[in-house]
Amino acid sequence: MRIILLGPPGAGKGTYASRLTVILGIPHISTGDIVREEIKAQTKLGNEIKEYSDKGELVPDDIIIKLLARRLRKPCCEKGFILDGFPRTARQAEALDGISKVDLVINLNVPDKIIIQRLSNRLTCKKCGAIYNKLTLKPKKDTVCDECSSGLYQREDDKPKVIQERLDVYRKKTEPLVEWYKKKRLLKDVHCDDMMIPPEVVVEKIKVIIDASRKQGFPRNLTK
Ligand code: ADP
Ligand code: ZN
Repeated sequence: MRIILLGPPGAGKGTYASRLTVILGIPHISTGDIVREEIKAQTKLGNEIKEYSDKGELVPDDIIIKLLARRLRKPCCEKGFILDGFPRTARQAEALDGISKVDLVINLNVPDKIIIQRLSNRLTCKKCGAIYNKLTLKPKKDTVCDECSSGLYQREDDKPKVIQERLDVYRKKTEPLVEWYKKKRLLKDVHCDDMMIPPEVVVEKIKVIIDASRKQGFPRNLTK
């Protein structure tokens, strides 16, 4: 199954995708993680995209499309994938059309107030990228990752003045994709209006949609 998780920054795409990947046995592909890996490795490309990422701006389409296409060519993606953070612009959606079919788009609807609260309390593992929240999803030990015992930190783009910028970018550039996928009849909405709803509950909602979509015959022809 080829699934896209669509939704504003802080909607929980990464949190849900990291659980769905285990349940469904297909890879979780986060372009945000790919960008951060590239920056951490200090490649030429990494240095070039760092300034965009730190400011909460989108990395140019050509670069991100190339990075994603490279990842989707790996054999592990043959059975399907969960895309988190891609596509984010109309050009990226068009490019994806040429790279792979899509079976289902889950649109996470989350009010701005919750997003701001959530992102400003988010902690990320330096090593494995696991996501925590100071209010709702606390690590067992304050600043230490439950999974790999590395330190947790606040992402540069999770600082308050960058959060608003990311939300603005989302509304302007990414939200139009909701209509695009609605027209293709691939979009399903999931609403999360309460910050205290545990991730498992939302994951279950998504799982029900996936199962229903499977019953309707998706994924169709896995060869492309
Ligand atoms: P968020 O928490 O905002 O969803 P991500 O971890 O997905 O953030 O992405 C972090 C940063 O990486 C973005 O702010 C952007 O600079 C870059 N990035 C990730 N995915 C894309 C994309 N599809 N197009 C352009 N830039 C991207
Ligand atoms: Zn970790």
